[in-house]
Amino acid sequence: MSEIELQLFPKFDRRPSPEFIDGWRKHIAATGSPETYIDISTTKPPRDGPVILLSEDIHVPTALRLGGDRVPCPLCSPKSPKFENGRLAYFPQESAVRCIGITCARKFFGSDYTEADRLFRIEAECAAYVAKWPAVQAKMRSVEPIVQRLLAAGTKMEQMRLIIDAQAPGFAKFLFNDLNARDMLIVTSRTPGARSYEVKGLSFFSSGFDPRPTLEKIIAASRDVRKPLPNWSPEDNHADSTKEIMRRGRAALGAIESIPVMAELLGGAISFFERMNLRKLEQWMETGSSPFASLSFKVSGQSVQAIATSFEGRHEWSVMVPENLGSQIPTSDEIVSLNLSEIQK
Ligand SMILES: [Zn+2]
Repeated sequence: MSEIELQLFPKFDRRPSPEFIDGWRKHIAATGSPETYIDISTTKPPRDGPVILLSEDIHVPTALRLGGDRVPCPLCSPKSPKFENGRLAYFPQESAVRCIGITCARKFFGSDYTEADRLFRIEAECAAYVAKWPAVQAKMRSVEPIVQRLLAAGTKMEQMRLIIDAQAPGFAKFLFNDLNARDMLIVTSRTPGARSYEVKGLSFFSSGFDPRPTLEKIIAASRDVRKPLPNWSPEDNHADSTKEIMRRGRAALGAIESIPVMAELLGGAISFFERMNLRKLEQWMETGSSPFASLSFKVSGQSVQAIATSFEGRHEWSVMVPENLGSQIPTSDEIVSLNLSEIQK
């Protein structure tokens, strides 16, 4: 191998631009030589100087290099082959940019590297939110009618559950725990070998059934995204704008992610009230294999009434289940057609 001359290019009063970093990536993909891109320094940096990371770990296609050698590492072996996985780093003290091996960077810079990596992740996340904000805004506008339907249905169902809990304290917990212990599977016939039935909608009776706060968060996020994000550049590490972008970006993407979750939760819960489901529960009691001495549901119009007796005592409740409640909840086809995944991380 010919003698390598180490070079220092003190050309960066500021960090290199995203275009520069992009060009560097393309150069690596074409040559396997991160250190030969324009203005990349190869001298050893001072150990105690500040270091700012400009890229994630990049696997260098070393097979493209002359002889297929590894990349020399400015930190530990500036003149001989060393690494395959490196990162671009900015050294403001020397106004220089280097590609450093990731394994020894950790050792070389110690906690400075850990901190630099933490800041890099925050920057990368902010940059991603800034880049996708227009798409997030458009998506939120298009899903708003669906989110409003979810909120209306979720609010109603939460009220129904509160009514049941007030009229029949302990019923929800008793039913949920018993069926949960059976994996929702109940026997509905005494005929030997008869198939068991999987009870629908038990999530309605789970102790954590409170869809409204999450739905209100989605609504709040959909309003928030209408506002633009503040001006931001990667140098703004400690600025308020970084905090604001992280908070609002996470809220927006979290909201988009929870739309299908909430639709599935409500769609599942409402199915408890399907007549067939209620009938199966009555049949279960009739077989004698349930914990109930009696269990009956009376459906008339929109009203659903339940009377249950068990060793826990007698429970009776009655709620109105609005006819349009089921159709308010978006179907899984409707959710799929929202194409939410194109926004996700
Ligand atoms: Zn090294």
